[in-house]
Formats: sequence, structure tokens, C-alpha cells
Amino acid sequence: MNDLKTLQEKLQYDKTFDCVQCGYCLPACPTYETMEKETHSPRGRINLVKMAAEGKTSLEDLEEPIEKCLGCMACTTVCPTNVQYGAILEGAKETLEDNKEKSKRSEKTEEFLFRSFFPSSKWMNRLGNATWLYQATGLQKVARSLCLTAMAPLHLGEFEKVIPSQPSPSKRKKRLQRVEPEGTPAAKIAFFTGCVMDSVFFEINQQTIELMKLSGAEVILPEHQTCCGALHAHSGKVGLSKELAMENIKAFEDENIDYIVNNAGGCGARLIEYDHLFEEGTKWHRRAKAFTEKVKDISEVLVELDALEFSAPVEKLVTYQPSCHMTNVQRVTKPPRQLIEQVPGVKLREMNNPDFCCGSAGVYNIVNYEDSMEILNKKMEDVNKTNPEVIVTTNPGCLLQMKLGVEREGKSGEVQAFHLVELLMEASPRPKK
Ligand code: SF4
Ligand code: SF4
Repeated sequence: MNDLKTLQEKLQYDKTFDCVQCGYCLPACPTYETMEKETHSPRGRINLVKMAAEGKTSLEDLEEPIEKCLGCMACTTVCPTNVQYGAILEGAKETLEDNKEKSKRSEKTEEFLFRSFFPSSKWMNRLGNATWLYQATGLQKVARSLCLTAMAPLHLGEFEKVIPSQPSPSKRKKRLQRVEPEGTPAAKIAFFTGCVMDSVFFEINQQTIELMKLSGAEVILPEHQTCCGALHAHSGKVGLSKELAMENIKAFEDENIDYIVNNAGGCGARLIEYDHLFEEGTKWHRRAKAFTEKVKDISEVLVELDALEFSAPVEKLVTYQPSCHMTNVQRVTKPPRQLIEQVPGVKLREMNNPDFCCGSAGVYNIVNYEDSMEILNKKMEDVNKTNPEVIVTTNPGCLLQMKLGVEREGKSGEVQAFHLVELLMEASPRPKK
């Protein structure tokens, strides 16, 4: 009896009753659209969780439908009864994770990846530097000419093709921890660098800092910040994700700052919900709330400061692929579009169904490669109809996925995928006079 009660608590059983089975969420769900199974829809997943919590189905039956959920949260935006699907999904993932029979080896690998690798700036720098070495020494050319990349596990050879050129280790080392604008700062901003963003897209992070500086802000990079914990939560490691949240709250609360800015939709969505991890009325909830109130995406803060003008026209047809987590969790939709439209020469053409996930979803495209590519194919159909020269997005996972989409369509020479920040930098921004 007690076991069932504990299971029900972990599975967020009480929240499953908010679902009235109306099915409005079905057309919004990318996995329902591509897999065409009720069990792979939001309604079906909620039903399965409820049945597992009642002991009417096994946890094993829950595994595949939950694993195949992108966590894009498109279902939550159309649900008339406001079902807390995010909490139900996280509860299911945590329960399945606890239930998993794992081999010692995979336990050790996971332990290393989630506890030591992603949260460590040292490891992230090492990854960036190793990629630079691979690219700069000609190893990449050799590996490609011998087709060694095609033999890489988990389709990593596909992603290798779209990893951007990395800066040298000395350039990474030279980065300043505090950047000051000319004159009195208009705002004091703490920049959340992110783990994947800072490793794979270090140059975009540098450009982000530059844009904030040009907007008149003082920018600091708190030394003890760590991974946001989104990847951990998506993998059911909720306890570890909470530990990382506590580290970040500590790292960012010492400074007298106006905003905590990030440039990665997925990270921002995690940061902005740190207060949900703690019980209301507790000291940690208060600290988390103070943190989340300052969290902003780079696009929001640039629009708010409104201090940039662009001096070089970018004569390109652009389409915008929003990050699901930015749209559905952070609810930031207008600022990126406003900024794209401020770039002289740019023509923004919206695609059909822009809020349909691109299939990246954290590590979904690595662990569920075939399903992710089905979703990407659908996304590229909508992208292609706009006939763009540039696809702009706002999250590292979406950016890599869009680059991969372009590569798979054989359009690498014609279409570029940019982070919003890269597009803004192309237009030679400078402070408004
Ligand atoms: S829209 Fe909401 S209430 Fe309706 S089936 Fe989906 S989750 Fe349930
Ligand atoms: S989070 Fe996305 S993939 Fe998962 S059920 Fe909701 S809409 Fe479908």
C-alpha cells in the first residue's frame, strides 16, 4: 500500500486527473504527428502514467512512450485545463530512471557524463580544445577521406559534419571575466554561458557578450556557474539537476546584478523554473525566486535596452525557427522577431507551423536518431517552402539540428543556419547615437 502511495507521489498521479481526454493537444504533438500512435501523444502518455500509478500497467510499458517524448511542451500551450505535463513527464522520467536495471559500465559512464562532464567548465573547455585540435591539425580531413567519421557510433559522424570551427585554446583562455562599456553602464548583467553553448559555440557566446557591451551593459561571467541541469532533468536525474540549480543560485547571487542573461532557449527554460524545484516558503525557494526573476534571454534584454543600431545591410531572405523551450516555457516569441526585422536588408518570411519542434530536444537526436530525423524532415518541408537563404534560431541544439537539416537536403552551399546573435553581428551593430 505504502509502495503504491510512494509510486503515485513520484508519478505525480494527482496531476493526471486534470486531463479531461479532450485531445486538443494531439495535433500539436510532433511525436503523435510522425508516429501516429495514441501512446505517443500527450493524452496517451498521461493515461499510461495514471495506469502505472494505479498498478494497472507496468513501468516497462511506460518506458518507450516517455522516452520518445521530446519534452517540447507544445501540448501545454493548447491544453484547456492547463495540465502540468512538464511535471508529469519529469516525474515519469525520474521514476523510470530509478527503476532501471543498469549495467555497471553504463552506470559509470552516465555518472561521469552527468556528474563530472557537463557541469565542468574544465571538461567543456577540453572538449572544445580537442575539437579545435581535430579540425586544425588536418585530422578531420584524414578521418573524412578514410570515411572514419561514418563509422562513429550513435550517428555522431552526421553531427561531426556540422560542428563549427573551434577557436584555439589560447583564444578561449584570453576571455575576460568582466567587460565594461564606455561610460556609465546602463545595466549590470551576469552572463550564463551554458555548457554545450560555451564548448561548441564559444564564438557565439563571445558575440553575445559584445552585443551586451555595445548596448551599454557591464557584463560579468560568474566563476562558479555550472550546467543549468536541463539535460539531467530530461534524463530523469532530477536530484542531480536540483544540485546544479543550487550551485548556480549561489554563483549568481553574490553580485548586485540587474539581469541573468543566457542565449540558449533550453537552458533559459530550465533557469526560469528553478523556483519550481523547491518547496514554497523555504529559504531555497526564496533564493531561487530571486534568481528566476532576473533571468532573461539575450533577445529580451537587447530589445529592452534598445541601444543598438545596425550599419551593414544583410540582403537575405530569413526564416525563423523558434526554440520550443523559448516559446512554450519562457514564452518569449516577439523579441527575436523584432531584432531580425531591425537588421537592414533582411526580409523575414515566417514558415508554416514554426512552433513544431525540429527534433533536436537535448540529446533526443542522438539517442532517438531515426525518430528525430523523421521530425526534422517534416520541419525541413516547412523551411523549404519559405526558400530561405538563412535560418535563424536561438538554441544550440536547434542550431545544430538546422545545420544538419540543411546538410541532409544537400543545400549547404545555398542556405546558412545562424544563431540570432550571429545574424545581428553580421549587420555591424554599434551603439545608437
Ligand atoms: S489538451 Fe489537455 S486535457 Fe485535453 S487531452 Fe490533451 S492534456 Fe488532456
Ligand atoms: S512534450 Fe512535445 S512530444 Fe511530448 S507529449 Fe507534449 S507535444 Fe508531444
